[in-house]
Amino acid sequence: MSTAPASPSASTAAPAASSLVDDIGRTPLLRLDRVADDLPDSVAVYGKAEHLNPGGSVKDRPALRMIEAGLDAGAFRPEQTLIDATSGNTGIAYAMIGAAKGLDVALALPENASAERKKVLRAYGAELILTDPMAGTDGAQRRVKEIVDAHPDRYFYPDQYNNDANWRAHYDGTGTEILDQTDGAVSHFVTGLGTTGTFTGVTRRLKAHDASIRCVAVEPETALHGLEGLKHMETAIVPGIYAPDLADAHRTCSTEAAVDMTRRLAREEGLLVGPSAGANVAAALDVARSLDAGTVVTILCDTGTRYLSDDFWEEES
Ligand code: PMP
Repeated sequence: MSTAPASPSASTAAPAASSLVDDIGRTPLLRLDRVADDLPDSVAVYGKAEHLNPGGSVKDRPALRMIEAGLDAGAFRPEQTLIDATSGNTGIAYAMIGAAKGLDVALALPENASAERKKVLRAYGAELILTDPMAGTDGAQRRVKEIVDAHPDRYFYPDQYNNDANWRAHYDGTGTEILDQTDGAVSHFVTGLGTTGTFTGVTRRLKAHDASIRCVAVEPETALHGLEGLKHMETAIVPGIYAPDLADAHRTCSTEAAVDMTRRLAREEGLLVGPSAGANVAAALDVARSLDAGTVVTILCDTGTRYLSDDFWEEES
């Protein structure tokens, strides 16, 4: 792994009086060398290290943007409680930013979310509303809508699945940084779909710069998968911000291939990231293998410390 030429802003230390939220974004773009060592020199694969955000994931950027947009528009009054449904990373970002800004946060999540997740959220002072594990994140979304419908004045509901501030955070931030950090050389962008904010925002930004940049959306192979944060669109509630026509191509990744790559990233690149990052890198390498020349960029979505109680770290493939 080596670092792409840094943008000027990435190499400037923040002033001592800066707030935690000022450290969101401006993540490194890392060249993946060892997992990509079968590729010719003319093809490079980079991972955008979103796991190095202060909340440990790609969701810090949209959470901050949705909170600030809500406060600016008066839709979020500081005496209200922010409420949303989240499989984890957005919730951690809301809880962290809420704590730093003195705002109350309540989160609905399926009861079977990992113990570490629940402890982290409670440590930041968030209120947890645990929902039926069989109903997954869709069940948590339904519960939040019921609560907000019953008490509309009490809550601010950012609704990350339908909030344009979600993808705009990636348009202005993640996408612009990828262009800067590759000096505009990015030829392919590959990432998985959850709320679809990352894919939608980065793709729109890259295509505004150069419409020929190929953008590939990645989904789990089946409805039943262990890839935290990713959706199997055919069987999930499709997010309102999703724009299916944006993708030049779609790829699937099996849970096994994603987990195998997650282990390899830790052992061969020193990158302790979660399984959706494994899925992204596996798919990005597939795309890269089909090229004679190119610069393929993908997203390292969250930190692997969030999955330490999962047993896949020990297994041999
Ligand atoms: N991976 C992980 C671990 C996530 O938490 C998320 C967010 N749900 C994603 C990938 C997908 O990101 P997005 O919501 O921007 O599609």
